[in-house]
Amino acid sequence: MDEAHANSICYCGIMAALWTSWSNDNLERGFFGCQNYGDRRYCCFFAWFDNPMSPRARIVIVGLLRKVKAIERERKKE
Ligand SMILES: [Zn+2]
Repeated sequence: MDEAHANSICYCGIMAALWTSWSNDNLERGFFGCQNYGDRRYCCFFAWFDNPMSPRARIVIVGLLRKVKAIERERKKE
């Protein structure tokens, strides 16, 4: 498991949410936080998302973030 992926799993064992605004050209400093924020299951997970990245890595990460956002949207529909 690579570091970026490891940082995106909270102590609950689920994919953490990335809290920031972001785009392909401007990946701002963000952080991963537990998706259970506001819930009593909240595990207080916190990890900065500001690893120095190569252009290739940024493309891969943005692609992963899009998948995360899509999964989050699907979950909210349930
Ligand atoms: Zn959690």
